[in-house]
Amino acid sequence: MIKIKSDFELEIMRENASILRGILGNVVSRVEPGVTTLELDEYAEELIVSAGAKPAFKNYRGFPHSLCTSLNEEIVHGIPGESVISSGDVLSLDIGIEREGLFADFATTVPVDDVGKSKMDLINVTNEALTKGLNKVIPGNRVGDVSHAIGSYVNQKGYFVVKEFVGHGIGREMHEDPQIPNFGEPDTGERIHEGMVFCIEPMVKRDEEKVEVLDDGWTTVTAGREVSAHFEGMVAATEDGPEVLVRGGLQRPWQKKKTMTS
Ligand code: MG
Repeated sequence: MIKIKSDFELEIMRENASILRGILGNVVSRVEPGVTTLELDEYAEELIVSAGAKPAFKNYRGFPHSLCTSLNEEIVHGIPGESVISSGDVLSLDIGIEREGLFADFATTVPVDDVGKSKMDLINVTNEALTKGLNKVIPGNRVGDVSHAIGSYVNQKGYFVVKEFVGHGIGREMHEDPQIPNFGEPDTGERIHEGMVFCIEPMVKRDEEKVEVLDDGWTTVTAGREVSAHFEGMVAATEDGPEVLVRGGLQRPWQKKKTMTS
């Protein structure tokens, strides 16, 4: 069952999304060659705790950290560790918090320095696919309209969506109904109503093969070990249309200046 958020819940979710935007912004400002993914995770956790929130991913089904760091062929659920970021890498960062009993969750992909035209094209298509999906979160539409907007755009651009992982509802649980695949048919699935809040999260790759999960039980990679990208945004369906609470993207204020917080 898809839960409808009260005005009060929605207000807290807006605050949480805003807090999380600031946190990930600060983490992204530290992404540069020579930094390890574990250092980014430690910084993220420090910022989450000092914001009076809890890291939503830590210990979630046994996930050991506060941030997912997925490098290059890693699509999602990369575990922070000793991997050193290099120029030309494509790094996806996914983060979640719980505060006042409500969750926020979003993700962005960061090109490290100049990644070249081909990788940048994949990143841009994934980012635009998120926009296409968010724009369909309108009362009266159906979940399949969101899925179809994402999948058809990605295919038209010559790429493929990950089919094994989906977007989701969010609220008092991190993962609520409905599941929102990144492919589907328009005018199918559950009806969208005012007060629903969804996480839309296209994951895009160059091959059509099934993804693989590494022996650590989490890190998900492309079959051909080719680069992939992931953007996620949180959106509320309102009478005025989609209200994006927070989203990953490339037009980030945090990319232009470094924010010193410690
Ligand atoms: Mg999510």
